[in-house]
Amino acid sequence: MPSVTLRAIGPDSKEETLTEYICDWPDCPNVAEHVIGVIVELRAYSAVCKKHAAMIASGRSRPGR
Ligand SMILES: [Zn+2]
Repeated sequence: MPSVTLRAIGPDSKEETLTEYICDWPDCPNVAEHVIGVIVELRAYSAVCKKHAAMIASGRSRPGR
C-alpha cells in the first residue's frame, strides 16, 4: 500500500507529520478511511476509501488479485 507523508503547520506553529494511506483499490487515488483488515503474515494493513469499503461490504469484487 502506498503511503503519503504530509507536513502541516498546526495552529500552534508546530510542525506535524501526518501519514495518510491511499486506497488499496487499483487506480483509486482517494485517501483510505477504512481499514478492512490486517494481513498478519505481512504485518500490513489493508485499507480503502469510503466508496470502496461500501463496495466490499456489499460483497462485490475485492481489490488486488
Ligand atoms: Zn477507493
